[in-house]
Amino acid sequence: MGNLWNVPTGTLGAVLHINSTALPQFHLAFEMRTALCCEQLWLLDNFMGRVIAVANQKGGVGKTTTAINLAASFAAAEVNTLLVDCDPQSNASSGLGLVKDPERVSTYHLLLGEASGEQYRLRDAIAPLRDRFTYIVLDCPPALDLLTVNALVAADSVLIPMQAEYFALEGISELLDTVERIRAALNPGLEIEGVVLTMLDERTNLAQQVMAELKKYFGEKLCAATIPRNIRLAEAPSHGLAALVYDPRSKGAESYIRLAKELLGRHMAAMAAPAISA
Ligand code: ATP
Ligand code: MG
Repeated sequence: MGNLWNVPTGTLGAVLHINSTALPQFHLAFEMRTALCCEQLWLLDNFMGRVIAVANQKGGVGKTTTAINLAASFAAAEVNTLLVDCDPQSNASSGLGLVKDPERVSTYHLLLGEASGEQYRLRDAIAPLRDRFTYIVLDCPPALDLLTVNALVAADSVLIPMQAEYFALEGISELLDTVERIRAALNPGLEIEGVVLTMLDERTNLAQQVMAELKKYFGEKLCAATIPRNIRLAEAPSHGLAALVYDPRSKGAESYIRLAKELLGRHMAAMAAPAISA
């Protein structure tokens, strides 16, 4: 399919290159880039390293699927993107076909080599990479542990995947408290990137009710793009591929492309606003 997942030795994650010409009828990069005006395109190509942590302490809510497919969608738009696997389960790595290799330098070596409470370790490691990538996406483990705290200290923003379930908000308050504490003590600039609904079946009344509640609670932070339950998203990792490479026309791949466009559009608008008003 012409995609190349290239992991240079000594780096912390997968540098995502998707050859968009390998997706012939799709023209994703073209489509995504023509949606932006000239100033926004300039900003996009000169926009330095926004670090987005994909986090939720609840297990199995679609963090890794979101990290892989959001990063792949950015990469398909010819935006330099780095995906960093911060989870010892290493699902983001295996989902992109990287077999476990004890010789490879990993975030494990970086963070747990000396198991101290040092919370700036990931941030320091990522700092020199910020000017090489437009987006750095961190896949977090399902716990509010030292690994997630390191990721939130290193991040500019946190993207929270969640399912439209009755107890969704209860589960999220602990994460929001942690974000508040990290802001107060360690990383004052940490923003909520957004809340993205995953594995959604919009036809059910429950999903509609939960979506309405979440909209009231999160307002604009609730992403307009939602991710449907889609078998292609579940199948893709077993082939070691992002969904947009495995099946670019699937509903799942399309939904992550919409999410990437929404975030890109927001970031470009936020960057253009001061320039226009100046
Ligand atoms: P963990 O907390 O263990 O890290 P996670 O939050 O990273 O889990 P995923 O691994 O992304 O969650 O997803 C959990 C399972 O659900 C996986 O088998 C994945 O393939 C599947 N899955 C994720 N999103 C979807 C979706 N939109 N449609 C169908 N299956 C999905
Ligand atoms: Mg995961």
